[in-house]
Amino acid sequence: MPPSQPSQPPARLPARITVLSGGVGGARFLQGVLRLVERTSSDTAVTVVANTADDIWVHGLKVCPDLDTVMYTLGDGIDTERGWGRRAETWNAKEELASYGVEPTWFGLGDRDIATHLVRTQMLDAGFPLSEVTAALCRRWQPGVELLPMTDDRVETHVVIDDPASGERRAVHFQEYWIRHQAAVLAHAVVPIGLDEAKPGPGVLEAIGEADLVLVPPSNPVVSVGTILGVPGIRDALAATKAPVVGVSGIIGQDHVHGMARQLLEVIGVEVSAAGVAEHYGARAVGGLLDGWLVDTVDEAAVARVNAAGIRCRAVPLWMTDHDATADMVVAALDLVR
Ligand code: GDP
Ligand code: CA
Repeated sequence: MPPSQPSQPPARLPARITVLSGGVGGARFLQGVLRLVERTSSDTAVTVVANTADDIWVHGLKVCPDLDTVMYTLGDGIDTERGWGRRAETWNAKEELASYGVEPTWFGLGDRDIATHLVRTQMLDAGFPLSEVTAALCRRWQPGVELLPMTDDRVETHVVIDDPASGERRAVHFQEYWIRHQAAVLAHAVVPIGLDEAKPGPGVLEAIGEADLVLVPPSNPVVSVGTILGVPGIRDALAATKAPVVGVSGIIGQDHVHGMARQLLEVIGVEVSAAGVAEHYGARAVGGLLDGWLVDTVDEAAVARVNAAGIRCRAVPLWMTDHDATADMVVAALDLVR
């Protein structure tokens, strides 16, 4: 085989793979999972348990950034440059709203995207739970996975910051911290409001309990994977499942890749390194999350430390440069726990 060919995939993929996903990082990882399914001609069913704690009400519309990023990315509707939102987007409604002086003006609400939020909000108003709304939206986008919100209940991550305008300490919605303030203000705490009382969405515990493999993408360990794990019942389901649980580091070479992993890891007191995040998740054998953990080749030296924490570990290239490169990461994840 010429060296440019993708690495040899395993003969057969597990029948049921469940992935705990945030937005952009999770969605790109899922493209690799689906590429591997395609490459091996497997009839694997992929179920995604997606974070909903980034959800926000804007101008009367319910916006679910992580659900939509996964849905648009896998449904080929994403703006690949931005990584979020609709391709060929226009911003007329946003401009009109700003002309009325209506806040928030910092939230990117595109005209095409608004249609999704209108459908969602109308269905929620009519009494449908978010899980059913998501299924309805996916009938258009056909993402090739079953996309499950982690919960149908309202959960919103807030971040306690020093407000740059007033100098006072206050809690703002995660989106305000991340988009308006670009994560550049001092953060003191991450507070997932409503998480303690949330119930897992329909099918979530089954998807974990009946999986043959659970994958944790390089999604944000605090505000994506962290909030999924915080839904009461999900940790227990992960502890109990017969499926191995393998994660992929979103930290490469002692730095975050894209996104705000660094600031938020520091807020919760986790070392910003591939090994630090693995230790934070912990080994399943001692009540943690992971059986296996992939670190990037530049973090080869972290392998021994992760092994010492009771987690099988390997160093492989972790840049999701294209779908085949990402599919190779999934092959490595499978090898680790085979
Ligand atoms: P969000 O909800 O849109 O912030 O997306 P996620 O939480 O799913 O993923 C964001 C994380 O993905 C970032 O914090 C990065 O650490 C990670 N990430 C992005 N691109 C790559 C990549 O190419 N390789 C790896 N290993 N991690 C990545
Ligand atoms: Ca997110």
